[in-house]
Order: sequence, then structure tokens, then C-alpha cells
Amino acid sequence: MTHGEADYDVIVVGAGIGGIYAVHRFTRQGLSVLGIEGANGVGGVWYHNRYPGARVDVDSIDYCYYFSPEIWQQWHWTERFAAQPEILAYLDFVADSFGVKQRFVFGTRVTSAQWRGDTARYHVTTSTGLGASCRFLVMATGQLSAARRPEFPGLERFRGEWVQTSHWPERGVDLDGRRIGIIGTGSSGVQAIPVLAQHAKHLHVFQRTANYVVPARTAPIGAAVQWGIAGQLGDERELLLATRGGTRLPVGARPLSHFSPAEQVAILERQWESGGQAMNSLFSDQSTNQESNDVVAEFVRRKVREIVRDPGLAEKLCPSSYPIGTRRLCLDIGYYETFNRDNVTLIDLRSDPIAEITETGIRTQTAHYELDLIVFALGFRAFTGALDRAHIRNERGAAPSDGWGRGPRTLLGLMTTGFPNLFLPTGPGSPSVLGNLFLQNEFLMDWIGDCIGYLDAHGFATIEPSEAAQDAWTAQVAEAASRLLRLRVDNYMVHVNADDQSRVFIPYTGGFDRYVRAARDTAARGYEGFVPS
Ligand code: NAP
Repeated sequence: MTHGEADYDVIVVGAGIGGIYAVHRFTRQGLSVLGIEGANGVGGVWYHNRYPGARVDVDSIDYCYYFSPEIWQQWHWTERFAAQPEILAYLDFVADSFGVKQRFVFGTRVTSAQWRGDTARYHVTTSTGLGASCRFLVMATGQLSAARRPEFPGLERFRGEWVQTSHWPERGVDLDGRRIGIIGTGSSGVQAIPVLAQHAKHLHVFQRTANYVVPARTAPIGAAVQWGIAGQLGDERELLLATRGGTRLPVGARPLSHFSPAEQVAILERQWESGGQAMNSLFSDQSTNQESNDVVAEFVRRKVREIVRDPGLAEKLCPSSYPIGTRRLCLDIGYYETFNRDNVTLIDLRSDPIAEITETGIRTQTAHYELDLIVFALGFRAFTGALDRAHIRNERGAAPSDGWGRGPRTLLGLMTTGFPNLFLPTGPGSPSVLGNLFLQNEFLMDWIGDCIGYLDAHGFATIEPSEAAQDAWTAQVAEAASRLLRLRVDNYMVHVNADDQSRVFIPYTGGFDRYVRAARDTAARGYEGFVPS
């Protein structure tokens, strides 16, 4: 113990999906727990990403907690793909239901976490001066929380307003009648653009890469479906844990070549009409076979050409630089239709890159666009951003990501060698951003809670992965991704080694089901591969 420092069994960093459940779970098992959160409330990404149009792209009935029948009795989702305010209200409701908020300090950022072997604790400092120590540090900071900062020359002299989708101001942003520019057309930009267009005097969309965008087709969901799940929650949870992505998303069992061209089109049309992420998994070989993938990709391009009236504009919006599904598929509500509006202009940054931001707008190499508001939807410093800014250090003064120069190295994406008692749930090497993050967090926090219980029951103070087990798991992560088309595509999920351009796919792609089995087997064998001491 250090003077002035409160001591806990566990410190949980982050009050998002994982952090809320973690604090509840660890408290329930009798551990003393402190939660630390930078924002002024719970919600994590759903607290910060309150940009207009934000909504989930996984069915709401999958994207929620499964640990509590009471929550299922009391909360009913209104929509197939719930919008951000509803998800935030849900997380707030769950946190209140289990007394989670009182265990958190809000408006407080972890500024350092130093492991000391003599105390067998992490000693944590924060932005508010609060100090605390813990036996176990659980980084529930998520993989997509540290925003990629806008680094365009001249931004500092822009006299209008600029905002980031990932940290949309709580006070709201005036959109009506303004000349708005948005940079970034990933999942966030694609959701914001149709709504911004409805309010703006004029919307300028600055697109670097055209992405595949398919209809969400959100719709009201009835109570009967939800009562049905609530009535057998344990079974439903196990069912989800045994799927590839932790959701009810249908997965085609047959390769594309099994179907005639007419049948292929019928399947694709049906999926376009029913909406959702299943466009990624209609045929069993579309993620590995370029020709099969081409058929699905071309179908989406045909839809773009049908929807967008100006053929030249349609070509610019047609995604062609990578196979469909090798980056996150974007779900939309009226994205392509938006480009038929008179008050929307697409600027193709491939042919006309941004030169600078001026006092009054954005200058590309060939034109200047006068703007009142710039919206940055540039994505995140994924996987390591949130971890790095917490300044976690072991006794040698190393940070967890120091050893990840050639791609992350973890055991099960949960721990990394050299960092005793540091848990990284949903970290690199787990299904992570490819899996249902509610179910995954629930499963992993249970795993961590059980692991702490095991250590305490056996008189161990610390645990970390053996080098050999970490190497073996890292190899398994690489093997699982080795045949995937997505390994070749530049994206925040791929680490490219600077020297030989070799590629490492960061999340585990072997499937949620196999991951769950591996994690359970490890635990059942006395945390095989981990070294308790
Ligand atoms: P993102 O997918 O990484 O997209 C970032 C966008 O910014 C891309 O269009 C990128 O262009 C562009 N960009 C970045 N730097 C740029 C620059 N210097 N100049 C011009 N353009 C630049 O980020 P995101 O849209 O925030 O989504 C990230 C992830 O968050 C998603 O994959 C998803 O997992 C999650 N998410 C989910 C939802 C949902 O549930 N519905 C919603 C939003 C986000 P390039 O493609 O050319 O790099």
C-alpha cells in the first residue's frame, strides 16, 4: 500500500458495455471494485458517439446483456437496430439496476498504472489526482474508443466549428441551414450523412474510399420475440455462444458455385430486401474465394447504379478497391439515395485530395469549399490507442504494446506476457470487433472473475501467460486468418510490418464458438498456458 491510496481487488477502466458488467460481476463475487471512467456517465462508445444517425448494426435482441432475466423482463427494444439514445438509455438502466454507478468515479482518466512486484499490485494515478491500487487491472476500454485525430494542415485557423463523430458534443450541434463538410465514409460517416443532409443548407462529402453500404431495414420488433428469449435466457445465451459471431446472423452453408446464376441473384435480392450484415455470409466461400466475392460485390455495385441517378456520381460511389466484407460492411438508412439530393456534393479525394483547411473551409487541389461546420468521421486508433494512453508499465518500465512491433501478441486476447494480472478483454487476438461485444464482454468478464476466484482459492497472487502459450495462440490467430481475403486489405484490423510488408490480422477469426471453447478448455485445465504464482 502507498500512502493516500485506496486499495481494491480490482480496478475496471471504462464504463461501457464491458465495464458495467465487470463491476457488477466482480462485486457480486465479493471482490472490492473501483471503476474509473473518463466521461461523465456510463455508456462508453455509446456515450461518446452521439452523432446524428448513430445506431447499432447488429440486431438489438443479440446486442444486449444475457446475464439477467430481470433485465429481459423490464426492458424491451423498440427497433431491430436500436438508435444510440435507446442503447445509451439501456446501458444507463442496467447500470442503475445493479448499483454499478456508485462504484465508478466519472470524469476521471487513468494517467498511469505501474505494476510493482513487492506489493503485487498496480498503482494507478488519475487525471483528478485520485490514486488507487489493485491486485487486478481490467482494461474495459474497448478497441474503438481512442479517436484518430484530424491532422489536416490549417485546421487551427478554421473559423467555423468542427466536431468528431466519435466525440459528438453532449450539448448537440446546430446543423440547420449550415454549410457542412464531412470527411470519412466508414460506418460512422455513412450513418451520419443522410441525417446531416436533411438539415444542412449544403452537405459536402469528402470520400477517400468508397465502401460497401447495404440497407439496414430497421423495423419495430414485437414483444413476443423478446418474451420468447426472456423465457429461456440461459439456453439462448449458450446458443449464441456456439455461433461464429455471437449473433443470430444466418450463415450460408454452401459455396456460391452450388447455386445457378438465377438462384444467386434471388438469394442476393432477398438479402437486400431483408437488410443487415448477412450480406457478408450468404455463401460459405465469399470471404475466401475472390470469384464468389466478386458476384456479391458486383450485385451491390449494380444496386448503387440503380439508386444513384447521375451515372458519373454512381461510379464514384461504387466500391471497387477491395472485396466486399473485407472491411466492416456499412449498414445504412438511405445512404445512396442521399446523393440524389440537390444539396449534396461528393468530392472524390482519390482524384482531388485535400490540400489544407482554410479559415473558411476546405481546399482540395482543384477547388475551395466554403463551410460553417466540418464533421470528422475518421475512425479510431484501434486496439492499442486506449491502452497506450493509460500508460501501463511493468517493473521493467515496458508498456503492453511495446512487444507488439510485429503485431499484437496475447494469449486469447486476454493477457500479454510480462504483465501480471492485467486483463485486456476483447483485446487483439480475441474475436473482438468481429464478435457481438455484449456477449463477448459478458463471457470474458465471467472468465476473468472465475480466474480471480481460482487464484484466490489456490493462494496464488499473480497470473500471466507463458511465452510458449502466447506464441502458440498468436500462431493460431494468424493461421485462422491465413486464407481470408481480408488479410490482404488495408484496414484498422490489419497490422502491416514496415520492413517486409507481411500482414497480421489482429482479431481472432476462427469463430466465436471456437474461441469460447478454447477459453473454457484453458480454464477447465487449471488455466493451462497461464502461469499462476
Ligand atoms: P472507419 O471505418 O475507420 O472509417 C474512417 C473513415 O475516415 C474512412 O472512410 C477513411 O478513409 C476516412 N479517413 C481517415 N483518415 C482520412 C484522411 N486523412 N483523409 C480522408 N479520409 C480519411 O471509422 P468509423 O466509421 O468510425 O468506424 C469504425 C468502426 O466502428 C466500424 O468498423 C465499426 O466496427 C464501428 N462502428 C459501428 C457502428 C455501428 O454499429 N453501426 C457505427 C459506427 C462505427 P479510408 O477508408 O480511405 O481510410
